[in-house]
Amino acid sequence: MSDCKKLHPTMTFGDRECVIFDGAIHPQWQEAASQKGFEIIARILDRYHLGLRHHACGRDMICKLFTLRTAIPLCPHCLEDRRRELCDAAGVTFLAPARPHYFRIQLSCGHEVERQQEFLERVRAGKTEIRCDACLEARLEAAAGGRGWTLLGPDPKGDRNYRLYGHECGHTQRVAIVNMQTGRFTCHACSDTWTNDPSFIYLMRFILRSGRIATKVGFSRNPASRLRYQLVMDLEQNAQLLRVIPVPTGHQAICYEKRLHVNLRKLFPGAVLDRAEFEGEVRVLSELYCASIEPEIMALLDDIELRVKSLAKRAAKLARRSAQQDARRASNRQRRKRSGGSAKAG
Ligand SMILES: [Zn+2]
Ligand SMILES: [Zn+2]
Ligand SMILES: [Zn+2]
Repeated sequence: MSDCKKLHPTMTFGDRECVIFDGAIHPQWQEAASQKGFEIIARILDRYHLGLRHHACGRDMICKLFTLRTAIPLCPHCLEDRRRELCDAAGVTFLAPARPHYFRIQLSCGHEVERQQEFLERVRAGKTEIRCDACLEARLEAAAGGRGWTLLGPDPKGDRNYRLYGHECGHTQRVAIVNMQTGRFTCHACSDTWTNDPSFIYLMRFILRSGRIATKVGFSRNPASRLRYQLVMDLEQNAQLLRVIPVPTGHQAICYEKRLHVNLRKLFPGAVLDRAEFEGEVRVLSELYCASIEPEIMALLDDIELRVKSLAKRAAKLARRSAQQDARRASNRQRRKRSGGSAKAG
């Protein structure tokens, strides 16, 4: 290219073309190089630089004369080999060195990230595993989007199991990742919390002043308090809470209750008490029945209780199964890592 290069012979190191420096290679330098596993092949650039050949790998490198005299030169080719081997064994692809002690790598999903060398060594040893933050965030975003939420960022309180989300109503709130996946949470701004709080279906008995015995079924978060402080108008009133069935959410409770009343009105239209019979004694508008059908109501409540229990069992089974699947996936990953590592070692 330039006249200068035509006049002076050059030598190439990697992608760098270096001018050969005119000067003697002293025998004591060569001796020092040999003791450290290298051979001086040329003086290059200026009087401070040498071209070295690494005995172990036969490849050439640029080295300062000062470094050769005071330390053991580090072969950049062998260094890169070691980094590639480490990354291969850790199941990722080495791209380039990054900040000190960090490598730029490509994960199996294709995303490029920086990870510490020490971390990759622990991955190779099977002590930990690499997770892709970009893929995780994409999964979290998809889960949130499916429920009308937007992933805004990390948890303001710094809990790694939580994230900050925004609801389509405009409200922002921290939500546990697992709850966003299962939907077991509500927006604090736009949803009635009672519909998600645990509730009860109850059965009560009132003895009215007429001597008539009345039965009431309903739902409440606190049936005893509902009976004492809301339904009864006279503290002397003969009233009893006969049965409560815990239901996981108020929403489910209201559904069960509505269906129950539809059934009772259909099955026992004659047992529905007229409002005039209890007005001034029990503070409700409807839904009082003649106690003669109490056994039938109990039977319907048995059905509700069974349904609640089997739903809870099914939910627990699903949760167990998904936990097992997660564990299995994790152990498969470990196994793949280990077998990959030993193949390299052998
Ligand atoms: Zn080398
Ligand atoms: Zn990824
Ligand atoms: Zn909302």
